Amino acid sequence: MSAKPSLLIRGATIVTMNDDFDIIPDGELLIEKGRIASVGCASDRPVGWRQSKADRVIEASGCAVLPGLVNAHNHAAMSLFRGYADDLPLMRWLEDRIWPLEAELDEDSICAGTALAVLEMIRGGTTAFADMYFMMDKVAAVVKRAGMRAVLARGLAGTGSEPMAGIEETRELAAKWHKGAGGRIRVAVGPHAPYTCEPELLRRLAALARELKLPVHTHVAETRDEIKIIEERYGATPVQYLEREGLFDGLRVTAAHCVHLSDDDVKILADRRVGVVHCPGSNLKLAAGIAPLAKLLEAGVQVGLGTDGPASAGALDMWEQMRLAANLQKALTGQADVVTARQVLAMATCGGARVIGLSGHVGAIIPGMAADVIIVNLERAHLYPPHDVVSALVYAGHPDDVQTVIVAGEPIMEERLVLNLDERDILATAAAEAAKLVKAATAKQAAKHATPEPGGSDDNDEDPPEQSG
Ligand SMILES: [Zn+2]
Repeated sequence: MSAKPSLLIRGATIVTMNDDFDIIPDGELLIEKGRIASVGCASDRPVGWRQSKADRVIEASGCAVLPGLVNAHNHAAMSLFRGYADDLPLMRWLEDRIWPLEAELDEDSICAGTALAVLEMIRGGTTAFADMYFMMDKVAAVVKRAGMRAVLARGLAGTGSEPMAGIEETRELAAKWHKGAGGRIRVAVGPHAPYTCEPELLRRLAALARELKLPVHTHVAETRDEIKIIEERYGATPVQYLEREGLFDGLRVTAAHCVHLSDDDVKILADRRVGVVHCPGSNLKLAAGIAPLAKLLEAGVQVGLGTDGPASAGALDMWEQMRLAANLQKALTGQADVVTARQVLAMATCGGARVIGLSGHVGAIIPGMAADVIIVNLERAHLYPPHDVVSALVYAGHPDDVQTVIVAGEPIMEERLVLNLDERDILATAAAEAAKLVKAATAKQAAKHATPEPGGSDDNDEDPPEQSG
C-alpha cells in the first residue's frame, strides 16, 4: 500500500473537542500517515512552519474544522424502508409493514440500503457509525469501499439454548473484519434488546464478547411496553436485567435509547460505565418518549448521539439530533441552561467515540489521533454572524454545510463531491431494490389472503424483531 499523502488544512477555525475545549482561530492542522500530526494557530508559528512538508494544502478560511460526527446507533440498510410506513403505532409499523419487507432482504438489498445510508452519512459529515443488522459481512464491504469508519454488530435475538447461526456469524465477522480495512472497521456483539434476548442468550453473548474482546451494542429501555414486559418476566427493569445477566461485567456496552429509566438505572449506567446512545429523533417519531438526558449527564453517564435506523429516524441527520438533544431537554426540564451546545457537540463527536469503543482513537483533534475530520462552510446566511462557532453549528448547522470529509487522513468527500461512491448508481439501485422488496412482500401477503386455510409451514410472517427499533 502506498503511503498516504500528508495534508495541511489552514485558515480555519478549529474546534478541537480536546479536554480543554480549545477553539483555535486561523488554525493549522497537519495530517501525516492518516493521523493528526499537529494542530495550532498559524500566528503562533514561524512562517513556513512545516508547511513545506505537506504534500497537499487545503485552504479553509471561512470554515470550521471539527472532528467527524459519530452516529452511535444505526441500522443502515433500513434506509430502503424510509418513508414506506410512517405515522403508525409501533407494533403495527413493525408487524404489518417493516417485518414483511425485512423478510425479503437479500445480500443485494443489504448492500444497496447500506450504500444509500453511507452516502447520506458522508454527505452530512458523519465519519463513523455503529450499526446493528444482519448480513454484516456485506455492510463491512460497503464501509470499506466508501472509506468510512464503523463498528458493526450482527443483531441477535432468541433463547440462546441452541447453536445459533447468528453467533457463528459474529465469530466469522470478527475473524474477517475486526480492525480490518486499515483499522477502520471494528466488530461488536449485538444482543438486540432485553425483551428479545432471554437470559441464556445474554450470558452466552457476554461470554462471547469477553472471549473475543469485543464491545457490545444493544437497545435498552426504549418503550414503556418494554419496561412492562421485563418487569413481568424478570421482576426487574431492563437495565437491572442486563446487569444481572452479566452484560456489564468488564464489557464496553453501547446502550441505545435508554428512554425510560429509574433513578437506580441511571446510577447503574454511571457506575458500570455503560455508554448510552441518545436517539431523540427516533424516540419522538415512534412515540417512545424523551430520554432523561440532563439527568444522565448530571450523573456522569457517558452519552453519544445516534439517529437509529432510517426507517424510524427519517434522515440520518446528526445535526438535527444535536439540536433535538439540546432543545428537548430545555423544554422537558423548563430550564434553558441545561444541555448546552458544547455538551451536545461533545456527544456527537468525542462522546460518541467513547460510547462505541473508539475513545482515544477518534472524536477529537488531538495529535496522535486518527485524522477523522470535517470541514464545514461557515459562510452561509443561517450560520452568520460568527459570534460563537459552536452555538452556530449546533443550533443552526445542517448536513449541507459540510464541505469536505476526511477519514483516517484520506478525503472521502471534497467540495461536496463524494469520492469513492457513485451517487447516481446508489440512488437508482436503492430505488430498484426497495421496489423489489415491496413487490415480493405484497405478493406474499396477497397469496396468504387468497388461501383460506394455509395448512403448510411456509408461513413467513413471524420473523422476530431482532433488528428493528
Ligand atoms: Zn435501533
